[in-house]
Amino acid sequence: MIFLAGGHLVIFSDEVVGKMTRFVAPPESNLEAGGILLGCHRGPHVEILDCTVPMRQDRRSRFGFVRRDPGHQRAALAAWQTSGRTVNFVGEWHTHPEEVPTPSGVDRNTWANEMARRRSDPLVFVIAGSAAVYCGLGYEGRLTKMNVVATTPGGTPRALISGSKGPRATTGAAAEGQE
Ligand SMILES: [Zn+2]
Repeated sequence: MIFLAGGHLVIFSDEVVGKMTRFVAPPESNLEAGGILLGCHRGPHVEILDCTVPMRQDRRSRFGFVRRDPGHQRAALAAWQTSGRTVNFVGEWHTHPEEVPTPSGVDRNTWANEMARRRSDPLVFVIAGSAAVYCGLGYEGRLTKMNVVATTPGGTPRALISGSKGPRATTGAAAEGQE
């Protein structure tokens, strides 16, 4: 999948899309899921090559995901080292129990904190729903919603493109957050 906003492209590998997709379908979709995004900054663009998935010490609930397991940070460090210092933390993802996800107030606060900690490079913030993906670009303190410009049908499961029926959101009061 490829997203565009303001001259920035964000490119997701099929592998990453596949990993996230598993968590927006039953039985995993009963609880929110999430992880970090690992990839490279290429000028103004971001290429996302891998992501982590929920680990044992994370907190998953119907309307929340809290990333607590130190394994996510370890995965980022391992990727950095094994890639010759090219692959790094470039953002985070989580799921929402709604078809077309929108960021909650908690999401926006969490992302604002991440942006304040890492001012130099654009960060990618993803929410996967059962029928669509929200992708936001955080750069220079501003969050910009990105638009899908391409999908890779060979490797992108339908649930992340369109048309799949999933559980509807029953509340807008998601209570997720990050450590
Ligand atoms: Zn959320």
